[in-house]
Parts: sequence; structure tokens; C-alpha cells
Amino acid sequence: MRAVVFDLFNTLTPPVDDAAFKTARIEMARAVGADPDAFSHAWSASWRERYDGTFPTVQACVRGVCEALGAHAEEAAIEEASQIRIDCARRAVRPRADAVATLARLRGLGLRTALISNCIPEIPLIWPATPYAGAIDEPLFSCEEGLTKPDPAIYLRACERLRVDPTDCVFVGDGAQGELSGAQRVGMHTILITTPGRTAPKFSEQDSWRGEAIDALSELPGLITGAVTGDV
Ligand SMILES: [Mg+2]
Repeated sequence: MRAVVFDLFNTLTPPVDDAAFKTARIEMARAVGADPDAFSHAWSASWRERYDGTFPTVQACVRGVCEALGAHAEEAAIEEASQIRIDCARRAVRPRADAVATLARLRGLGLRTALISNCIPEIPLIWPATPYAGAIDEPLFSCEEGLTKPDPAIYLRACERLRVDPTDCVFVGDGAQGELSGAQRVGMHTILITTPGRTAPKFSEQDSWRGEAIDALSELPGLITGAVTGDV
């Protein structure tokens, strides 16, 4: 193994507080003067445009949702709503307790690291100020790449940036949106990380995955060392 590719939410981060994002959506709706339920529904319905970069900024995401609702919002209101979302995301991307130490340990083993996150433009915006920025060699954000997991092209692009073959990569994720099967299809060695206490969302492989699984990131260096030295 020469590289480790990580998912972000529920993998490098602790289990995401879905209620916090729901509260943020209600506050965003208030900021732009929209009905909270209608705003929340339209926000969910705009998944594709937010994740594939069609809406290239958080402000564009909010504006697009307002337009879908036929609601006019002033730029100041769009900005306020965007900041509510960005602040919520900033709190949600805090690393698991063992994340930063594990990333350093993997580097110490001579492994390169990448991120593939299905995310909206708030994540590349806040990324440079996160503890991950100095610890991940190649971050790929779906909204910047115009590709989302489990499209094979985004995994292959990560490998190109890392200059490694997919078969020399470990992919670690919580299994959202079929990301583990996607990694497996391009030939990556794939590991599920569990998210205790969190109900698996729709299209998650959390409960159906029959491959290798870990409960904590700190288990990774030991597992991969075996693979590096050919012991397993
Ligand atoms: Mg995830």
C-alpha cells in the first residue's frame, strides 16, 4: 500500500449531528424570509447542483434554492443565510479525537494521503483553516471536481494526483452514497469505519458492508503496516 484515501463526514469527523444541520436550515430559511419546511425541502432537492459545483459558492446554493421557491431574497439575506450554513459546517468538520494523530502516523509510515468528499462549496472554503489541511496531501472536493462518489472517475482522479495505482490505495469511509463499492470497483482496498449511535442514511452501506471494518481511525496504521510489509 502506498496511499490512504479518506472520506470526510463520519470518517475523519465524528458522527455528524444531523439536528444541527436541520436547525441551520431553519435559521437560513428565516434569514431569507422563506417557509422553513419549503426551504428545507428545496435545499434537499438541490443536492446535485450543490454537490457537483453547478452552484459554485454557498451563496449560489442559497440563491438557487430561493429561486426554486420563487422567493426573492436580498444579497444581504443570502449572505446571512450562507454564513449560518458555513458556521454549522465549520463545527461539523472538527476531527475525530484520533484523526490528526492517525494522519501523521500514516505519513510517518511513508504513505501519501488524499480526501474525496461529496460536499458543497463550504468545505473547500473552510478547508485551509482545518487541522486536515496540513495532513492530507491531495484533497478532492466533489463541488470542485464536478464529480461525485461513487463515480469511478473521482477515485481515479485521486490516484492520478497521488501518482499511485488504485490497487496500491486504501479507501476508508462510512459507506454513505455507495462510496465503498465505488472504491472497490476501481480496485482500491476498502475499509468501512463504523459510526456508532448514528442511524445509517438512505443509500448507506453501513449496515450491509461485509468487508473489512474498523471502529476507530487509530486501528488503521496497524492494519496497513501489515499490508505494507506483506504480512497480510
Ligand atoms: Mg461520510
